[in-house]
Amino acid sequence: MSDTVKYVLEESRIPKTWYNIQADLPKPLPPVLHPGTHKPIGPDDLAPLFPLELILQEVSTEREIDIPGPVRDVYRQWRPSPLYRARRLEAALGTPARIYYKYEGVSPSGSHKPNTAIPQAFYNREAGIKRLSTETGAGQWGSSLSFAGRVFGLEVQVFMVRVSYNQKPYRRALMETYGARCIASPSNETNSGRAILAKSPDHPGSLGIAISEAVEIAAQRDDTKYALGSVLNHVLMHQTIIGTEAMAQLEMANDYPDVIVGCTGGGSNFAGIAFPFLGAQLRGGKKVRIVAVEPAACPSLTRGRYAYDFGDTAHLTPLTKMHTLGSTFTPPGFHAGGLRYHGMAPLVSHVKELGLIEAVGYKQLQCFDAGVQFARAEGIVPAPEANHAVKGAIDEAIRCREEGVSRAILFNLCGHGHFDMQAYIDYFGGKLKDLDYDEAELAMALAGLPSVKEAA
Ligand SMILES: *Cc1c(COP(=O)(O)O)cnc(C)c1O
Repeated sequence: MSDTVKYVLEESRIPKTWYNIQADLPKPLPPVLHPGTHKPIGPDDLAPLFPLELILQEVSTEREIDIPGPVRDVYRQWRPSPLYRARRLEAALGTPARIYYKYEGVSPSGSHKPNTAIPQAFYNREAGIKRLSTETGAGQWGSSLSFAGRVFGLEVQVFMVRVSYNQKPYRRALMETYGARCIASPSNETNSGRAILAKSPDHPGSLGIAISEAVEIAAQRDDTKYALGSVLNHVLMHQTIIGTEAMAQLEMANDYPDVIVGCTGGGSNFAGIAFPFLGAQLRGGKKVRIVAVEPAACPSLTRGRYAYDFGDTAHLTPLTKMHTLGSTFTPPGFHAGGLRYHGMAPLVSHVKELGLIEAVGYKQLQCFDAGVQFARAEGIVPAPEANHAVKGAIDEAIRCREEGVSRAILFNLCGHGHFDMQAYIDYFGGKLKDLDYDEAELAMALAGLPSVKEAA
């Protein structure tokens, strides 16, 4: 009962294509709008920020997109990632459920983020780009893009949310180890950063502000483009390698999920594990319950409005329709930094609107309880973000116990917590509190949503 069960795929089974759910949607995504004119944008509007190949992927409705050979060659370093059956956790919970987890912490930077950082760096290099600018919250994305930039010979400049920059020196050191430049945001290097510092010199920063800074830098120089670690369609598509591999591994296990659980910040690791299964369902396959778990203190899917909004604070990005808390919303400083974004991926928001997925919000203490229980059973310390998925999976397993039914639960363990041990130290020291967002601030941020007349 306590033996390790691990499903390993041969290197040759690394998927050769990414899965694009836009091919199978019962209703297409609402158009992306220009921030000034509110008219649908075309590829030209995005050209200053992204290489053409990624823009084409963003709007593609082809079901399968080929993964380039050089990208698969880098993926081989850690892919296919393992799928485990959580036998010791099942025993600890006394549940008849079959719990499986896909482990993305085996990548060099310790999370799922390199799955998209590598192809993004590759397509930029192919387009002759020399530098990438980006933002990072907790530092997972910044370190992943720094690694990818190094692999493909691109300079990387990362705007890191100031609180995290001060709280997480190890993440910053990792980016610098890979040769990237890491700047605390808001910074003096951009107009958007200077405008915020003029008003509040001690501003803690936010992802929305850091995005404004990174976008501004990329828009100024021809040899520089911008890279985003979540939210966009092409990013979610690159992450589907997780679910496609998991499908093959569950076949080895002779099983198929009844429930899939993932944590959602911008929605990319969740989409990565869930969309291949959701696509199979949309094409007539087995129906799967799919649960997105978000922090109760930054609840875009459960408490946000489904509306057109900006991706950043300075309103430089196009408008996308998504579940949003408003682009000026600053969430409280809880530890799952990767989940502190005001919006949700348009694709995840869309399938939520269509009733194809569910969403729940959990507070941070119950997530850490679950993460510690998981670590004690399985030996892997999850990232604070991943603890949300662990909590969601454990709740499903307990429901199985109470109902006396055995269901297959698949969740994505999207990263390890080795750089987040300060959060665990705070947890064990009794210093971790459940933080609530400010209702008045949310109301104000929502009142500030752009008014967009939508075509019927
Ligand atoms: C970035 C990150 C997240 C949040 O981003 P998604 O796009 O929602 O996946 C979650 N977990 C980890 C470990 C991360 O690095």
